Amino acid sequence: MKLQSYNELLHSKYRLSLMLFLFLNAAASLFYIYSRKEGFLSPTLIIALLSGLILLWMLLRPRWKFPLLYIAALTTGLLWAWQIVRSFELVFYFDNSFLLLSLFSAFFIAAIALNDNLLAFCLHTAPPSATIIVLDRGQDTLLIAFVILLPLVGFTLNHMLQRRRDRFTRRLVNQLYEEKEAWSDLSMLDPLTGLYNRRGLMNRLKNIFDNHAGNHFVLLLDIDHFKAYNDNYGHAMGDQALARVSIAIRDAVRSRDIVARYGGEEFLVLLTNVNEAIAMKLSERIRHYIHELDIPHLFNERVATHVTLSAGFAPIIDEDFDSAIANADRALYLAKNRGRNTILSWEEVDRQDLSRPADAL
Ligand code: GH3
Ligand code: MG
Ligand code: MG
Repeated sequence: MKLQSYNELLHSKYRLSLMLFLFLNAAASLFYIYSRKEGFLSPTLIIALLSGLILLWMLLRPRWKFPLLYIAALTTGLLWAWQIVRSFELVFYFDNSFLLLSLFSAFFIAAIALNDNLLAFCLHTAPPSATIIVLDRGQDTLLIAFVILLPLVGFTLNHMLQRRRDRFTRRLVNQLYEEKEAWSDLSMLDPLTGLYNRRGLMNRLKNIFDNHAGNHFVLLLDIDHFKAYNDNYGHAMGDQALARVSIAIRDAVRSRDIVARYGGEEFLVLLTNVNEAIAMKLSERIRHYIHELDIPHLFNERVATHVTLSAGFAPIIDEDFDSAIANADRALYLAKNRGRNTILSWEEVDRQDLSRPADAL
């Protein structure tokens, strides 16, 4: 799961809590209107109309992204405060059960719908709380303080826990995402040489075709008599030779060229944006670097061992990578036949083919 989708999840949670908040306000105000037979222009009617209309709008426009929660929390909080003042004037005498009930319903709505947003919670509950404290004129201070402080303390603690959980989830999602990237990178690299493996090569190839319009060449390289090298020095030395050869190939080409381990002791270099002359020059440079390479003996650093390699190269025509590899492979085969430590272009194969009927005669 990407962080983006986690953020989307949070946004949909925000949207749902706003909708729940509006619904609870609409329901509470309608009940109030019904039970108290309110006059026409009462704050409760405004709350019912406002909440209902915004709720309807949100249902019709699911993609609507306006940060309305704080405004809605404060507006309804003020309207409920107004309603409390109005009812208090109508009742004539101090009815603390009515005051406490109003306060309780404001806290109840906020605690259910705004439970992960401390600011919205305070915006909604502050106006009715302040109103009731003023209206009460110190008669039931302890009871009112209890009704206000208990949910506030509980809510704050719950909010802190939620924030912690949210930070933890965010970190976890980030970490998972980073690890996924790292694993996907690793699955494209050959562990012995650190070069791209075939999967990595194909990935880069797609990239190159998408971003570079120039001519590209495939260069196939194969270490000469490597079986004999292994037999002579052992498999561990063989592995070391492969690692050293890989570094030398990487050093010989340009940074924009893609070097991959194509098989056991076979390498593929994708020479990007080159013509045939440069492809030949780079291939010769690789051959020369390997020829000059000292591979230290594992048991005696002062003794150097040597390998050579042969290679064939061919252009990629019309993004046909497979044909280019087949052509390069035929050139490589010919290079081996010509005595190894040799680089040949695919054109040599064509010439060889043309000369074949003559040879046959
Ligand atoms: P040629 O000049 O015709 O290419 O001869 P070659 O001996 O190099 O070719 P062959 O295909 O007969 O042998 C390839 C050898 O490469 C055999 C195999 O043991 C060795 N090899 C392949 N992969 C590895 C590896 O990962 N580590 C080691 N040490 N050897 C490997
Ligand atoms: Mg081979
Ligand atoms: Mg070989």
